[in-house]
Amino acid sequence: VTIAANEIQRMLRNWLSVRRTGPALDRSEKLLAEEVSEFEVQEGEKLNSVNGLIEFKEVKFAYPTKEEFVLNGLSFHVKPGEAVAVVGPSGAGKSTIVDLLLGFYPLNNGTIEVDGLPIEKANAKWIRDAISFVSQDVQLRNGSLADNIRIGNEMVTDDEMIQALKDSGLSDYLNSLPEGLESSIGERGALLSGGQKQRLSLARALVKNSTILILDEASSALDPITELQINEAIQKRKSKQSVIVISHRLSTVLTADRIVVLENGKVVEEGTHHSLLEKDGVYSRLFKREAETGENVISVS
Ligand code: ATP
Repeated sequence: VTIAANEIQRMLRNWLSVRRTGPALDRSEKLLAEEVSEFEVQEGEKLNSVNGLIEFKEVKFAYPTKEEFVLNGLSFHVKPGEAVAVVGPSGAGKSTIVDLLLGFYPLNNGTIEVDGLPIEKANAKWIRDAISFVSQDVQLRNGSLADNIRIGNEMVTDDEMIQALKDSGLSDYLNSLPEGLESSIGERGALLSGGQKQRLSLARALVKNSTILILDEASSALDPITELQINEAIQKRKSKQSVIVISHRLSTVLTADRIVVLENGKVVEEGTHHSLLEKDGVYSRLFKREAETGENVISVS
């Protein structure tokens, strides 16, 4: 692996000093970092295997730097092998769920459990190994395509990398490279387009092959092909991995088994796309607004 320990430390220092410049990126960097934060449990319990049951129980949470609660008694669960989309208005607390599931902050109240083990008692490394996280605001390293995929799993074979690139929609790109997997992606991925970077981040998460996969979409407009790819990846992984898609727009939710709608740090609705549209509540309003503003065009079958 090409990441030097001092580079990780520098990134962690940056993360600590710059609080809100790119939360999704910070989350993925922290997940990759070898060091655990002061809030994380280093000597905690581990289970022998991970089935992927995730339970948020009455979680109340305020960031240490702010007084107001971001999550106000949040409860929801993801069954092993289920794909759940979390949606809701901006600031509802969607991405905060990722911070808490990864154990980056202590809860003010309630518990989060993975296979029944409260994460405040769980070993931080165990939790990190159990979870693959894809953020759309991926940061890449200088080096080759392979170097950047191996960050997800040092033991990965070339064939597995090629398959992950295929599943992420990068087959054509790979085939166009004279040096294949060993081709340089430039200074922090400068030779890649935005969409290719996102796909590479997905490939990295796929080779990690953890029981739990979290996809946090960027709030910025996404390349629609990438959305499609992510949808396909979710479909393929369904029933093998527990998937949480934090959706800042609604187009990825159609493939989810269940949609959890958050507002003001609480679950206000839960159901399938069609059942929620029929309910004519928060989800239906968000969906119609997106369709009207043209922010996103969803074809409903
Ligand atoms: P969006 O769809 O706009 O990304 P979201 O539902 O994902 O929104 P969060 O990112 O979870 O919302 O943020 C919820 C609230 O917590 C916001 O008020 C945000 O400013 C605040 N917040 C998020 N991350 C931090 C942090 N690291 N430190 C302090 N406050 C934070």
